[in-house]
Amino acid sequence: MNLNQSQRISLGISALRSWFTFILIFLLLGYVGLGWLLKSLLVLFGLILVTPILLFVGLRWWLGRNLIQGTCPSCGNPLTGLKNTQTTCPFCGQSVAVENANFQRPTEPGTIDVQAVDVTTVD
Ligand SMILES: [Zn+2]
Repeated sequence: MNLNQSQRISLGISALRSWFTFILIFLLLGYVGLGWLLKSLLVLFGLILVTPILLFVGLRWWLGRNLIQGTCPSCGNPLTGLKNTQTTCPFCGQSVAVENANFQRPTEPGTIDVQAVDVTTVD
C-alpha cells in the first residue's frame, strides 16, 4: 500500500466519522426531545435559502415598475432613470427630472407657469 492510497482511506474514514457524528447527534436530540430544535434549524436554513431569491425577484419587480428609459430633452441621447427622481445627463450635463414616465427639464424655483393667450383686436 503506497502513501497516496493510505491518505485516501484516512480521508474516507474521517468523512464517514463526521457523517456518523451528525446522525448520532440527530438521533440523540430526537431521543432527548429536542426535535423542535432541529425543526427550527431546518426552517432557519430554508429561510436563508429562500430570502435571497425573494429579494432578487422583488428587486426585479420594483425596477420593472420604477425604471424609466427615454431620451434627454436637451440633447436627445438615451437616458435611464428612476421614477420621480432627478438625474444629470452624462452627455450634455443638463439636470433632468423624471416625471410622468418621461424626462423633463426641471423648472427653477420661483418660475411661474404662464399660458400665452392670443388676443386679437378688432379695428
Ligand atoms: Zn443630454
